[in-house]
Amino acid sequence: MSAITGLLREELRGRTAYGAPQLDVPVQLNTNESSYPVPEPVVAAVLAALEGELRGLNRYPDREFTALRAALIDYLQLQAGVRLTPERLWAGNGSNEVLQHLVLAFGGPGRTALGFTPAYSMHPIITETLGTTWVDGRREPGSFDLTPESAVAQAAEVDPDLVFLCSPNNPTGSALPFEVIEAMLQAAPRAVVIVDEAYAEFARPGTRSALELVEEHERLVVTRTMSKAFTLAGGRLGYLVGHPDLVDALRLVRLPYHLSTPTQTIARVALEHAPALLGTVEAIKEQRDRLVAELAALGLPPVPSDANFVLFGGLADAPATWQALLDDGVLVRDVGIPHHLRVTAGTPEETDRFLEAVAALAPTHR
Ligand code: PMP
Repeated sequence: MSAITGLLREELRGRTAYGAPQLDVPVQLNTNESSYPVPEPVVAAVLAALEGELRGLNRYPDREFTALRAALIDYLQLQAGVRLTPERLWAGNGSNEVLQHLVLAFGGPGRTALGFTPAYSMHPIITETLGTTWVDGRREPGSFDLTPESAVAQAAEVDPDLVFLCSPNNPTGSALPFEVIEAMLQAAPRAVVIVDEAYAEFARPGTRSALELVEEHERLVVTRTMSKAFTLAGGRLGYLVGHPDLVDALRLVRLPYHLSTPTQTIARVALEHAPALLGTVEAIKEQRDRLVAELAALGLPPVPSDANFVLFGGLADAPATWQALLDDGVLVRDVGIPHHLRVTAGTPEETDRFLEAVAALAPTHR
C-alpha cells in the first residue's frame, strides 16, 4: 500500500470503483447498450457535420448547447408529447454527469439522499463520493416492487433532501407505479425528487412518464439518456428536465464548456435522425419479451420488464452461473442480487445464443 492511501479522503478509502467488466466476447449482454450499430445514413450525416466544425475547434464550444437543446426539446415532443421551453432542459456527458450535477447542487455534507435498493448502482456512488449521506430504502421482498404506502412511510422517516426513483428500474426492469412518484412529492416535502428514466423508450404501452408532472411540481426532475434506445452509449449524452431555477442552479456546478463541440454535434445530428435511430426499439422489445417468456419456461423466474434487459432468478449460485455463461462466450451481468442475473435484450441471434447457453447449463446451476 502506498502513502497515497493515507492522503485519500477518508470516506473514499477502501472503496472499489464502478466497473462492469469490458470483455471481448462474442455475445455482450451486460451493460444494456444497444447491440445495433449506428445506421449508415446517420454516420454519413454526422461526418458531414463534423467536417464543417473541425476547423472551429480553436474556439470553446457553445456553453449553452443551444442547437442541441432545441433538438432535445423537439425529440421530447415527439417521444413523450411534452413541449418544453429551453430553460427547462439541461444536458451532460451521459446521464451519470447530469445526476452528478444534481447531487453537486442539491446534496453535499450534512444532506441526505434516499433511494430504493436494488436500483441503479451509481445513485449511491455519486451521492456518497460527494459527501452526501445515502439511505438505502427497501422494496418489497421477493417481487422488488415499491408500493406508494411503503415509499411514503420511508420518506416520512428519513425526510430526505434528495430522492432517487428509477423508472423503469435498473436492474429489476419494471416501471414504477405513477402513484409512487406523486406520493413521493407529497411525502418528501423538502426534497428534490429525481426520476431516472434512462430506459423510458422501452416501456410497455400504458406506462406514464414523470415528464407529465414536471410543469406542476417545482422539485421534480426527470433524467434521460441517449445511451440506450438511441444506440449512442459511446456518444455520452444525457439530459434532464426540471424547473428553470433548478436548471439554472446547475450552471454553478458544471465545469465550463462541459459538452465538447463534437459531443454536441454528434448528439444533435443523431436527434435529427431520431426515427432511424429508434427504429430498433420495437425489435429490442420483442427480444425482451421473448427472454421473459423463455426464461419463465426454463424455470428461471424473470421480473416483468419495461426496459431493454431482464432480471431473472432461480439460480443456485449466481456468480458460478455468470462464469459458466462467460465460458460459453456469453457475458451477462451479476448485479449482486443473490440467485439472480441480468441479461440485456440484443439481436434475435444474441437471444438464441444466450438461451442455448442457459439451456446447456449443468443441472447444478438451478
Ligand atoms: N441511469 C440508469 C438507470 C442506467 O442504467 C444508466 C446506465 N447504465 C445510467 C443512468 C447512465 O447512463 P449514461 O451515463 O450512459 O447516460
